[in-house]
Amino acid sequence: MAEARDRVGGRVLATQIDGQLIESGGQWISPGNEQMHELVRQAGLELVGPREGSLLIRSQGSVMRSQQSSGHSRTLSPFETADLGQGVVRFRRLAERTVSDPTWTAANQTWLAQPLSRWIKTNVRTPAAQHDFASALSSVLGAVSSGVELGDALQASNTGIDLEALFAVGGGLKLRRVVGGMHQLIDHLADQVSERIQLDTVVTGISHSDDGVVVHTAGGEQIEARTALVTLPPWLALQLDYSPQLPEWRYEAVKRTTPGAAIKAFVIYERPWWRESGLSGQMSADEGTIRTTFDVTEPDGPGVLTGLFGGAEAVSMSALGSAARERAFVDSLAAVFGPIARQQHTYVDYDWLADPFTRGCHTPHFAPGIWSMNGQQLAEPYGPVHFAGAEYAGKFNGYMEGAIRSGREEAKAIAREIG
Ligand SMILES: Cc1cc2nc3c(=O)[nH]c(=O)nc-3n(C[C@H](O)[C@H](O)[C@H](O)COP(=O)(O)OP(=O)(O)OC[C@H]3O[C@@H](n4cnc5c(N)ncnc54)[C@H](O)[C@@H]3O)c2cc1C
Repeated sequence: MAEARDRVGGRVLATQIDGQLIESGGQWISPGNEQMHELVRQAGLELVGPREGSLLIRSQGSVMRSQQSSGHSRTLSPFETADLGQGVVRFRRLAERTVSDPTWTAANQTWLAQPLSRWIKTNVRTPAAQHDFASALSSVLGAVSSGVELGDALQASNTGIDLEALFAVGGGLKLRRVVGGMHQLIDHLADQVSERIQLDTVVTGISHSDDGVVVHTAGGEQIEARTALVTLPPWLALQLDYSPQLPEWRYEAVKRTTPGAAIKAFVIYERPWWRESGLSGQMSADEGTIRTTFDVTEPDGPGVLTGLFGGAEAVSMSALGSAARERAFVDSLAAVFGPIARQQHTYVDYDWLADPFTRGCHTPHFAPGIWSMNGQQLAEPYGPVHFAGAEYAGKFNGYMEGAIRSGREEAKAIAREIG
């Protein structure tokens, strides 16, 4: 197993800053992530949910305090609940149609490019249900008000978002993270094959013939095998030199896919001061560079809030540098929590766009029609060269659960192939 970095884990990354655990990549698993739950259980790790307490919502310049940390601003009336339910059904049907009817999807690309916020206003009637619909989707897509397109949201719901979990009454997101960090699961899995992992080994190309494959590395090594499983994200996988060359449609499909951009950022305070006033540390804002935060304080640790610069914001903040990002994060916090957020702190972040062995993230955005027409095909092998990873998964695409499912499927296919 050739791994370019000097560590295993890829987009799951843990570091220690002043003794505090910082998880800069994949961290949360949700109720539908069955295989991740099973692996965590087998590894004997413990899960914990987001911090209990009130959620702060900043909307149109004013800050509201909800009684739950679930993303629901208040209890909906029966009429509003029915309205929300209808909106979810409409949304789900539409999402299914984009997959089942590629001709319709291709013909309606302009309509699918409308802002998700506009679709919500037209299809969900009551302001409270509109708000809950938008805030639940914002927590996974980035702020709906910032111009997320309907087509992207539908594609995410087909592949990654568990809508039932998002909207479950009183349940909200039901996210869980591993106490002590997700990297422990990676270490547990890597320990089982440690003697076969070659770190610091950058793969540059793969040639294949009827006899098998030869994997070429930057160090000049040639690794021979019967099959190869490429687990790089598609936009990096296609940069390898293939002989014979991959079919053109693969390049076309990936060219029309935006890898996504994410900088995961942390503000570390001496203590989790928000808890003293009954707050969960979660916020959801309709403006500002950071619009959602979570409390990821470890037991007895300093207070830690995390948030994500995403999409176009991440691209411009990547160029501005860490000091500007720190100011932007703290400004976003102060706009919601008040000046207390400006107290002494340490700031750290990780820019995945700048990392040569990721070059993007959090989840890719396939251009309308691409996923339904070519997406699933991307996971098909090319002779003895197989592909797997989060972006090849039919379900939970872009998430750890998707990576595990896709990897296992391809491992089974290879086992069948080589008998
Ligand atoms: C900020 C952030 C937050 C996230 N949050 C969540 C979350 O809360 N929940 C969730 O489920 N998912 C989350 N994700 C997504 C999740 O981390 C990924 O979907 C998942 O880890 C991808 O796994 P993978 O094995 O497909 O790809 P990767 O982890 O990217 O693995 C690819 C591997 O290939 C290696 N590689 C690259 N190029 C070469 C080369 N030329 N030669 C050899 N090796 C190479 C890389 O070093 C890496 O180890 C998040 C991601 C980010 C960045």
